[in-house]
Amino acid sequence: MDKQTTPPICNYEDSDYQTSFWDKGGREYEDRTEAIALKRLLPKKGRLLLELGAGAGRNTPRYRGFERIVLLDYSRTQLEQAQQRLGKSDKYIYVAADIYRLPFVNGLFDAATMIRALHHMADAPKALEQVRKVLGSGGIFILEFANKLNLKAILRFLLGRQKWSPFTLGPVEFVKLNFDFHPRAIRNWLKELGFEIERTLTLSHFRVGFLKRIVPTSILVFLDSLFQWTGQLWQLSPSVFVKAKVEGGKHKAEIPDSPLLFFKCPQCRYSPLVDRKAHLECSSCQKKWEVKDGIYDFREPIRN
Ligand SMILES: [Zn+2]
Repeated sequence: MDKQTTPPICNYEDSDYQTSFWDKGGREYEDRTEAIALKRLLPKKGRLLLELGAGAGRNTPRYRGFERIVLLDYSRTQLEQAQQRLGKSDKYIYVAADIYRLPFVNGLFDAATMIRALHHMADAPKALEQVRKVLGSGGIFILEFANKLNLKAILRFLLGRQKWSPFTLGPVEFVKLNFDFHPRAIRNWLKELGFEIERTLTLSHFRVGFLKRIVPTSILVFLDSLFQWTGQLWQLSPSVFVKAKVEGGKHKAEIPDSPLLFFKCPQCRYSPLVDRKAHLECSSCQKKWEVKDGIYDFREPIRN
């Protein structure tokens, strides 16, 4: 795949996103409602989960039923923060990579999650296609997306305070590299890729500034947890979770013990790569991919 054809990437390198947005940003309500949704959707047990857009690992401890987790993010500094939070162990594998050029062999994972990440993707169908390829048969995909068809957007549009229509299927880029999607467009893309949608939950029904100030968070979280089930019927909240399953029986393929065998060359797709300690080398195109302080870096090959 040619680099020039890869869509632009929203990069959180050197960002204090975890601190400013989550830890100090008054997002406790959103964080707790996500925890509830994940608990409802995640399989109880699994072998190898791919967390796309893992960031600083906020959600990672919630995947405790899985034997191993690959944390993937484009930003290396986000992964360093995740490493500090979760520690270095065989359970966690840290990978800096571009979602449009995933460095994994096909059919590797039995589950994948993408929470608050599709939001930044200029070419969502292309990103979803990559996810589909690395999931094995019967694999589970939990996807969160920002919903353009939310009540606030509908009201603003009907009152003439917003130019874009929440009813059209196309994504809306309301801030550069921030996209909201129509639930039907997401369903269509997933179905075209061979996913079956098992469940839909709606979240953050009460993401309204004044409510968050006057109503105790626990009460809002409780109410939201009741409303989440209505996602099966309609989706008018700003955030939606979908549990999709790759058609076919349960994923039975061997998952290699060594993470080295997870990878393929993102440049030419050759596998396996050769372990040279400080880097992995592709014996087909000779590109070298850095391995440093426990982070595999597949963004750009090492310059010779
Ligand atoms: Zn290669």
